[in-house]
Amino acid sequence: MMMDCLFCKIIAGQIPSKKVYEDEHTYAFEDIDPKAPIHVLVVPKKHILGLKEAQNGDAEIVGRCHLVAAQIARDRKIEDGYRTVLNVGPRAGQSVFHLHVHLLGGRDLRWPPG
Ligand code: AMP
Ligand code: ZN
Repeated sequence: MMMDCLFCKIIAGQIPSKKVYEDEHTYAFEDIDPKAPIHVLVVPKKHILGLKEAQNGDAEIVGRCHLVAAQIARDRKIEDGYRTVLNVGPRAGQSVFHLHVHLLGGRDLRWPPG
């Protein structure tokens, strides 16, 4: 755990969150500033800065985060259209440097994104 990481603190329960799902490897919670009716963040319990910092050994956990997002989408009945997003780097809007998959749905989603 990184002591100065917001999402590590959320995983550890030191900062409150609205938990959606948890298992040995992953934690999912409601985004505090939702950009869609459903906006859940899925994070690895392991502190990984972001996708560009992920290593070959992180392949399984990166995949697990996406499969958790797919299961939440199933549970929330938004399989007619949802999006998983990783913002990578500040120019793409990454503001928290602990890898997280955004799950967005519950409304029409435009393409291309902004
Ligand atoms: P990103 O901009 O891709 O790094 O995404 C970070 C996300 O974390 C944003 O959508 C924020 O709304 C969300 N966020 C920031 N602080 C919290 C928090 N305390 N609880 C839940 N979500 C948060
Ligand atoms: Zn972290």
